[in-house]
Amino acid sequence: MNRSDASISEEVRPDEHTPAMDWDGWGVAPQRKELSPSIRGLLAQVFKVSGESAPRSDVTSIRLRTSAVTTEGRAALAGIVGGDNVSTESADRLVHAGGKSTFDLLRRRSNDVQDAPDAVVRPGDHDEVLAVLRWCTDSGIAVVPFGGGTSVVGGLDPVRNGFPAVIALDLRRLNALTAVDPVSRTATLGAGLTGPEAEKLLATHGFSLGHFPQSFQFASIGGFAATRSSGQASAGYGRFDDMVTHLKVATPRGTLDVGRGPASAAGPDLRELFVGSEGAFGVITEVTLRVHPVPETTAYQAWSFPDFEAGATALRAVVQAGAAPTVLRLSDEVETGVNLARADSIGEQAATPGCLAVTTFEGSAAHVAARQAEASAILAAEGGTALGEEAARQWEEGRFNAPYLRDTLLDTGVLCETMETATQWSNLSALRSAVTGALVESLAGQGTPPLVMCHISHTYPTGASLYFTVICAQADDPIAQWSKAKGAAGDAITNAGGTITHHHAVGRDHRPWMQAEVGDLGVEVLRAVKSALDPAGILNPGKLIP
Ligand SMILES: Cc1cc2nc3c(=O)[nH]c(=O)nc-3n(C[C@H](O)[C@H](O)[C@H](O)COP(=O)(O)OP(=O)(O)OC[C@H]3O[C@@H](n4cnc5c(N)ncnc54)[C@H](O)[C@@H]3O)c2cc1C
Repeated sequence: MNRSDASISEEVRPDEHTPAMDWDGWGVAPQRKELSPSIRGLLAQVFKVSGESAPRSDVTSIRLRTSAVTTEGRAALAGIVGGDNVSTESADRLVHAGGKSTFDLLRRRSNDVQDAPDAVVRPGDHDEVLAVLRWCTDSGIAVVPFGGGTSVVGGLDPVRNGFPAVIALDLRRLNALTAVDPVSRTATLGAGLTGPEAEKLLATHGFSLGHFPQSFQFASIGGFAATRSSGQASAGYGRFDDMVTHLKVATPRGTLDVGRGPASAAGPDLRELFVGSEGAFGVITEVTLRVHPVPETTAYQAWSFPDFEAGATALRAVVQAGAAPTVLRLSDEVETGVNLARADSIGEQAATPGCLAVTTFEGSAAHVAARQAEASAILAAEGGTALGEEAARQWEEGRFNAPYLRDTLLDTGVLCETMETATQWSNLSALRSAVTGALVESLAGQGTPPLVMCHISHTYPTGASLYFTVICAQADDPIAQWSKAKGAAGDAITNAGGTITHHHAVGRDHRPWMQAEVGDLGVEVLRAVKSALDPAGILNPGKLIP
C-alpha cells in the first residue's frame, strides 16, 4: 500500500500551529526584513526620504475604542463557545482589528484611537458557529468572520453599520482534516487551517493542494474560498474556487451543504454563491477540495523577452496551446529592472535585461519533461531567450518575503501598495496603460514620480491578470494620498473593461465599483440572497454588496 491509499474519515489536527500575525505589520517580528544600507541610500536619494526606519508604537501605549460587548453578552457567548474562547482583551482585539492592506498598516502606525472588534469569539465546531450566529441575530450584534487575517481590501474592518457592537468570529479552532478520499483525490479540511497546516496534514497522505498565494503562510482554507483566492501556481492547479467540490456553510437561517459529485446539471451551482461571498452570506466551516499527489519533481526555467508585449504574446501562445506550466509569470521592464521578482535581492543584483518570465513545471518526471519541452519551444519561437534555472529558483525562494519589505518601506517613509485586475488578452495592453497612467498621474507632485511596476500573475486561455506594485514617497497624509490613487486606478480599471479584482476580493475597498461590475440588477440579486440567508444583516456589514 502506498501512502495515498490510506483513506481516513477521522479528525486529524496540526501538531504545530501557525502563529497569529503581529497586529501592526505583516507576519511575525522575527521574520521581518531589513533593507540593506545601499537600498536605504538609494531610497533616500530617489524619494528624498530619510532612509531611517521610524519606530512603531508600543502595543501598551495604543489607545483603543472601549469594547461595547456587555457583561451579559460576554457570558452568553461564553455559554456557547466556553469562557476561554471569548476575549475582550485589548491585545486580542487589536490582532483582529483588520487585514493587511497598506491602508490597514498605515492606520496601525497612526497615533489616533484604534478601532477593533468589541470581542473575539473562537467557536470550536460548526454547531457552535451556528449558535453564535443565532445569538448575534437575536441580540443585534454584527459578526466579521476572521480566517487568517490577510485581507487586503478592508474585508475584516470592524464595521458596525448601526449595530451597537461587532465581534470577530475567529475560525482558527476549525482546524481538522476530517476526510481524505485517495481514489477520488479529494480532502475535507476545516476552514481555519492555514496554508502550511493544510499542506502538512495532506502531505502525510502523499497529497498537496498546490495553492500558494503570496499570503500562503498565514491565510486560511475558509478565507481562500470566501475570497476566490488565486495562488502563484494557478496555471498548473487552477484557482482555489476551481478546487472546491463541496462547502459546509453556517448561516443565521441554518446550515447549507453545497456541491455534489464532480459536476451536476441540477440548476445553478450553489457553491458559486459561497465562493467569493466574503462572509456576507454565511460562515464556511468546512471545505472539500480536489488534491493531487505531491509532485515527484519540479523543473525551473527563466526567460527574457525584449519587451512586455512580446512576453505577453508568448505567454498567451503557451496557455492557448495547453502546454500548462505550473507557474507562468511575466514582469514588465520596470519590475524586471528593480529585480522585484526576486524579493531577496531587490535592487542588488544586476537586473535581467528586457522582461523576466518565470516558468516552473511540477509532476512526474515524464510529464514535466514533455510539458517543459512544449512550452520552451513556444516561448523560444515567440522571441524568448532562455536564461536557465537560477532566476526561477530565486523567485520561488524569495516569494514569501516581499510582504515583509512593504512594512520596512512604510517605516522609512516610502508608500508601497499592490493592486490587481484581469481582462481578455486583446485588452491587456490597453488596461495596463490605463492603470499605470492613472497611478502615475494621481501620485505625481510628491517630488520624484512614482515607480509603477506590473506583472502578469495568472493566465487563462482567454486572458490574464495584471498585478501592479506602486512605490513612491509618502505625502504628509499617506492614507489620503493612496485613497486618491486607488480611486483613480479603480476608475481606470472599470473604464478600460477590467474587473475590479481578479483575486483580492471586494471587501470594503472595492465595494464602490461593484455596481459598475455587476450592474443594478446584479446588485439586487446579491441583496436578495443576503436577505434570504441573513435577514438581520449581521454578517460582515458594509462589505462586498453596495
Ligand atoms: C501580502 C499579501 C499577499 C497576498 N497575496 C495573495 C495572492 O497571491 N493571491 C490571493 O488570492 N490573495 C492574496 N492576498 C489576499 C488574501 O491573502 C486572500 O484574500 C486570502 O484568501 C484571505 O484569506 P484569509 O484566511 O486571510 O481570510 P481573511 O483575511 O481572514 O478574510 C477575508 C474575507 O473572507 C471572510 N472570511 C474569512 N474566512 C471565512 C469563512 N470561513 N467563511 C466566510 N467568510 C470568511 C472575511 O470576513 C473577509 O471578508 C494577499 C494578501 C496579502 C496581505
